[in-house]
Amino acid sequence: MLQVAVVGSGPSGVYAAQTLVQQDRVPDVRVDVLDRLPCPYGLVRYGVAPDHEKIKSLQNNLRTVLEHERVRFLGGIDIGPGTLPPDRLLGLYHAVVYCVGAAADRRLGVPGEDLPGSHSATDFVSWYSAHPDVPDADGFEQDGFVRGVESAVVIGVGNVAVDVARMLARGVTELRPTDMPDAALGVLAGSRVREVHMVGRRGPSQARFTTKELRELGSLPDTEVVVDPVELALDPAYVEPSGLPAASRRNVEVMRGWAERPARGLARRINLRFFLRPVSLAAGPAGHVAGVRFERTLPDGHGGVTGSERYEDIAAQLVLRSVGYRGVPIEGLPFDPERGTVPHAAGRVLRDGAPSAGEYVAGWIKRGPTGVIGTNRPCAKETVLSLLDDAPALVRRDVPRDPLAGFRAAGLRPVQWSGWLAIERAEAELGRSLGRGVVKIPDWAGLRAAAQGAGD
Ligand code: NAP
Repeated sequence: MLQVAVVGSGPSGVYAAQTLVQQDRVPDVRVDVLDRLPCPYGLVRYGVAPDHEKIKSLQNNLRTVLEHERVRFLGGIDIGPGTLPPDRLLGLYHAVVYCVGAAADRRLGVPGEDLPGSHSATDFVSWYSAHPDVPDADGFEQDGFVRGVESAVVIGVGNVAVDVARMLARGVTELRPTDMPDAALGVLAGSRVREVHMVGRRGPSQARFTTKELRELGSLPDTEVVVDPVELALDPAYVEPSGLPAASRRNVEVMRGWAERPARGLARRINLRFFLRPVSLAAGPAGHVAGVRFERTLPDGHGGVTGSERYEDIAAQLVLRSVGYRGVPIEGLPFDPERGTVPHAAGRVLRDGAPSAGEYVAGWIKRGPTGVIGTNRPCAKETVLSLLDDAPALVRRDVPRDPLAGFRAAGLRPVQWSGWLAIERAEAELGRSLGRGVVKIPDWAGLRAAAQGAGD
């Protein structure tokens, strides 16, 4: 028997588990999928926007894997020096696959970045997704993100920027049927945001969002997308898009359609801006963010931009910095701080340049925070194929038949699948009591109490 721990139950972790139990090269593989949270599915639960029900329904596919007879979900397991460091975890299994994603956000590195009212998009996403690590006592709830906000700036033009811009423009009738926590729904219901400025430092042909997500912005009720044809035309590839990759060409065509459409005077506007790089965030008299200063950039002919020393200020009472995620090191595992990833060769963790027996990575912590959910499938497969190649040597090492005792000895109390099912039931019950569908429980205490309902 080959016993494997997969750390992280997001798409890359679940796809790694699936590949392990569906192959027939190595018989009788047992997989424990561990997660720090008592809830599975990683960014599918805590990153995919609540109004994207179709993508969220991917949870059903992931669930089938976690309910496989040779897969076991163990939540509430935090791997690290205070609990179970990587070397001790490896003592419990023949192999460990780290699929821990990229939990932090990249920094802008400009003055004013940390002013009140300036948040990373990841914090905003975590808040409306009910991530239990988002503190509701230290400011987010009081600040309420959108309270008193009429104009918001979103920095970055990737899919997360599109998600947060769309969530800012959604009305309560569209948000109420989602599973977002009731407190966040209440705050967004009171939103008076009228202007959302989504700002890219390069041109429209270089935006990172995907066309489906971009197009969706144009079909939001009471909201119009505004682009400036003169600004778009600063990008030579916008003027002559024939040489662009298909995805960028489609984006450009969507924006051209908006540029040619007359203004409709709708209640809310999403202003899509380009060739503006953030220089600083300014505070108002009360110390809260009041706007962002951008420098006009110009294409340098090589895919980058140069500064022009011309500046534009955009007033905003909320700034969401959506400039990408960043991997976080796990103490006891090697880490490349430049790339924010664990060094690896075909998924094998490299320690001092040499593969470390039994340690693997997949997903964002392996390749960086890029790609859509499906990109994790081939990524996980590559890693698992390396693991299976190594399996004959790995199984020679004795490991405990059931690692649960090892977790308990480390002071950890795993939340088993029945605990997660109890959380699901509690969330359905919470929704019923509020006259809504399923509503997520947003705090650790609530999740723990619900999981204990399973009696594990
Ligand atoms: P992303 O796609 O890497 O986009 C980051 C954006 O931030 C880019 O526009 C980038 O511009 C900009 N940026 C970076 N540093 C900057 C700086 N210092 N100043 C100004 N702008 C800066 O990241 P993401 O939006 O966080 O998405 C992460 C991954 O999740 C992506 O693969 C995305 O497709 C995926 N995702 C998918 C969905 C979906 O499928 N619906 C939803 C959410 C996320 P440059 O290009 O100039 O660097």
